[in-house]
Order: sequence, then structure tokens, then C-alpha cells
Amino acid sequence: MKRKRIRLGVLILTTTLVLNLGVVADASTATPFGTSRWRAPRVTYVVSGSSYYRYIYATAIRAWNATGQFHFVPGSYAHHQVTLTTSGATTGQYHMLAGITFTSGPRNGYFTQARVLLLTRNLATYHYTTYDQIHVAEHELGHVMGLQHSTARNSVMLANNRYNGISRNDIYAVERRYHTPVGRHS
Ligand SMILES: [Zn+2]
Repeated sequence: MKRKRIRLGVLILTTTLVLNLGVVADASTATPFGTSRWRAPRVTYVVSGSSYYRYIYATAIRAWNATGQFHFVPGSYAHHQVTLTTSGATTGQYHMLAGITFTSGPRNGYFTQARVLLLTRNLATYHYTTYDQIHVAEHELGHVMGLQHSTARNSVMLANNRYNGISRNDIYAVERRYHTPVGRHS
């Protein structure tokens, strides 16, 4: 019994050391990215919607910008790449969805435009808290940058994510996406 406890202690120590060294995530926990991206890790955006949803988007943008790997910069209505907005749609392709992202292009592998909808009536129906809704916005912004769905339990890119914020592997995936040529995926 005592011996087992010691072994467990060693195992935990080893795991901690690996994490502290910042070793690249293994395939089972890595956040995947697709073949397309923006030309640079920087896009201009406009937001529309109620002051509440502007707050949700602003908070999600602040979280991604704080990672240092990508920058969402306010644009103008005449000049912007990404539109962040809301919809009360509940049926068809929006059935039971919390949010959705549409990307245009890619042209030569590069996104040309993106549009994100937070689906306000579904979010209300399923009682998403403000935090949950920020996580949905962070997830959709992940798609805007080129990330795909992860199976890692703590990833913001988990399909139908509600509870997860941005993980280390999510940040690493953005870094890799913008250091990897278009046409290649993770
Ligand atoms: Zn998604």
C-alpha cells in the first residue's frame, strides 16, 4: 500500500514537470486547425447587436487578444473582415445551436471574410449564463481564426462548448496555425 502511494507521488511529479517544461501537447489533446487561415494573425471586425451582446463579444475578443497569438482589431463599416452579430433564428441549420461561424473564401487558402452569429433565442431557451455565452463567443472566434473542433475535455473548441474557456492547447493551435502554410492542417 505504501509503495503504491510513493509510485503515485512520482507519477504526479513527472506530469507536473512535463507541463512546466511546456512540452508540445500530444495528439489526443491538441486542438486541431484546418487548411485555411487569414494572411496575418490580425483581422478587423465590426460588432452589432444589443449592448449585452457587444459586451459578450468584447470580452471574448479581449481573452483571445490577451494570448498574444492573434489580434482582433476594430474596423469600420466600410472596411472590416469579420462581422460579429446575433440572430433570433431557431430552426433549420440553427436548430439547437448556440452560435455559428461562416467563413468566406478561402482564396488561395486565405479567408476573405467571416461572419459570426450568436443565436440569442437558443441561448435563452437553454439558460446559458453570461459566462457560458462568452465561452460560445470564444469558440466561434476560434473558428474565425481557423481552429477546428477538439475532443479534449478542457478545450474551448469542444463541439457544443459551453463551460470551457481558452486552454493552453487552444492558444498553441493558433500559434501553429499562423506558423504553418495554408493548405496544411494540424
Ligand atoms: Zn464549433
